[in-house]
Amino acid sequence: MLQIEGIKLNLEGSEDLLRAKAALALRLPPEAVEELCVLRKALDARDGVRWVYTLRVRVKGEEKVLRRCGSRQVSKVLETPYGLPPAVSGPDIPPVVVGAGPGGLFCALALARCGAPPILLERGWDVERRAADVERFWETGLLDAESNVQFGEGGAGAFSDGKLNTGTRDPRHRFILEALVSHGAPESILYDARPHVGTDYLRRVLKSLRRELTDLGCDIRFGCRLTGLELKDGRLSALAVEGPEGSCRLPARAAVLALGNGARDTFQMLHDAGVPMESKPLAVGVRIEHRQADIDFAQYKALAGHPRLPAASYKLSCHLENGRGVFSFCVCPGGRVVAAASEPGRAVTNGMSLYARDGENCNGGLLVGVTPRDFPGEGPLAGIAFQRELEERAYAAGGGGFFAPAQRVEDFLLRRSSRGPEAVSPTYRPGVRWRNLWEVLPEWLCQSLAEALPLLDQKVRGYAAPDAVLTAVESRSSCPLRILRDEAGQSPVRGLWPCGEGAGYAGGILSAAADGLRTAESVLETL
Ligand SMILES: Cc1cc2nc3c(=O)[nH]c(=O)nc-3n(C[C@H](O)[C@H](O)[C@H](O)COP(=O)(O)OP(=O)(O)OC[C@H]3O[C@@H](n4cnc5c(N)ncnc54)[C@H](O)[C@@H]3O)c2cc1C
Repeated sequence: MLQIEGIKLNLEGSEDLLRAKAALALRLPPEAVEELCVLRKALDARDGVRWVYTLRVRVKGEEKVLRRCGSRQVSKVLETPYGLPPAVSGPDIPPVVVGAGPGGLFCALALARCGAPPILLERGWDVERRAADVERFWETGLLDAESNVQFGEGGAGAFSDGKLNTGTRDPRHRFILEALVSHGAPESILYDARPHVGTDYLRRVLKSLRRELTDLGCDIRFGCRLTGLELKDGRLSALAVEGPEGSCRLPARAAVLALGNGARDTFQMLHDAGVPMESKPLAVGVRIEHRQADIDFAQYKALAGHPRLPAASYKLSCHLENGRGVFSFCVCPGGRVVAAASEPGRAVTNGMSLYARDGENCNGGLLVGVTPRDFPGEGPLAGIAFQRELEERAYAAGGGGFFAPAQRVEDFLLRRSSRGPEAVSPTYRPGVRWRNLWEVLPEWLCQSLAEALPLLDQKVRGYAAPDAVLTAVESRSSCPLRILRDEAGQSPVRGLWPCGEGAGYAGGILSAAADGLRTAESVLETL
């Protein structure tokens, strides 16, 4: 197969033209292209808006065609697809995977497909029951500390925008995207340069993935929380688990800890049990909301509103004189700001969207980088204390019931309380209270945000528009600690495999899922 990059189509152009364009790049007649598939489709809005494609084509005499066309756009496909390791015969004691987020689910899937179906422990509930708990929380502010936006089948990504892009290249990514599509995700994620699934599709995918796992022999236990480790000679021998039927001891020789970044009680337990871990940098800040139409206009100019254009997004960053970096994070075009708390008395924001991304507003994290030096106290759990303090301040400022403090950008820059919304209506539920965020968040954090807003506005006009809304606090962008592991992914406490975002080795759905596969490969090797 040959790969052709940089094939352009204008907005009105039909994909039927791709064959002719590919043939032109190869200096062949269109009928010589025997097979064509779109590998990547990206929107280029830099100089007029158009689609840019990477195509994969089959033609006769590839070597000769490649030599003759002499184009740097064309190359031979060298990629080797990812394959799971060879199957093993099931061990006497099954491996245990703790956490059914993307890391745990893909780890369990690889283990199960390779003949070692694990016991999958998940403290929260299946996605059907969880969706009802989350909806009630957003409606009433009544939090279920075990079934929420962080905990339950699908992990933290289940109520998200479902963006599936990462900054890294890994052959496992294609395997993951294909698995998601086979379980009901839209096919566009296979070629879209900015793939996203949306919360609506994610729920379907999770149910279908659960069926495959169960059919392969996985023992999925919802409502079951890992609460302790039993070690013998520095090696795991059993797990303590709290479940709907009370506590139990689960013999285990291999346990994957795919805990996500919200498992604060479990990190404490692991720390107390002597599992080595260290602090790591984090980013915290607020969610910023704009009218989607304004972001579309800033990005697409005169073409804004064109029916073939997706809701526009942005990616922004700047460095401040105080040495801090400020950047946009997890932008959700046409989405909603969501209450994403998992602990009573601590408010957290994040964002989600449906596949259609057709909501009124666009929201994104506006975050400031922090390092362990910013954390109060010492030790690997200091970052959690730091996050908790911010979340408590936000909760108190919201007046309880998980209302969140919010402020218009103009008022924020003038350090005065907002009285209410103007052009942008906040989407956060159960609701916001209009406050002065300078009285809620630390001075250095507000100062950094205030300095960054005008700088970022120079990159996307209207980013610092007076009516844009800031909602606090965004504190769970990643995990403030890393559970140490060796090259093979195993903790110095043998038998434990820290995995995914909570262990500090991933940031986002796709990278957590890839780390799940990597971890399964390592576990399988020891089986
Ligand atoms: C609202 C929201 C929107 C997001 N949007 C995106 C996005 O669009 N794109 C993107 O790439 N990323 C997004 N993220 C981040 C993404 O969800 C995470 O990076 C990803 O889910 C991490 O995967 P994980 O498997 O490592 O951990 P998690 O998904 O957090 O899963 C960990 C699981 O472990 C369980 N668990 C924890 N402790 C225990 C225990 N003691 N016993 C049993 N089970 C336990 C938890 O209940 C949880 O289900 C979003 C996150 C949130 C909260």
